[in-house]
Amino acid sequence: MSLKARPKVTRGHGLPCSVATAAALLTADDRATLAAWLDAPLGHPERRTDWQIASDLTAETGSRVSEQQTGKHRRQTCRCYQGVPKS
Ligand SMILES: [Zn+2]
Repeated sequence: MSLKARPKVTRGHGLPCSVATAAALLTADDRATLAAWLDAPLGHPERRTDWQIASDLTAETGSRVSEQQTGKHRRQTCRCYQGVPKS
């Protein structure tokens, strides 16, 4: 197949990123914990780094989550939030 013959693929808007995909595999309890970690502001005792959340999510779900993606999801700049007005 030539490059020209390849179909154009557009990245889905509003589709869950790897963080949301991994979160879907968690129990409701764990999802609440994850939400608390993501929402905790800098300096808050519940706050965990993007790296630690990514590493814990990957270990817990077996679904590969990167530090960068976790940061994007936390800042709501990942594809979960594209086209969705910021709250
Ligand atoms: Zn996301």
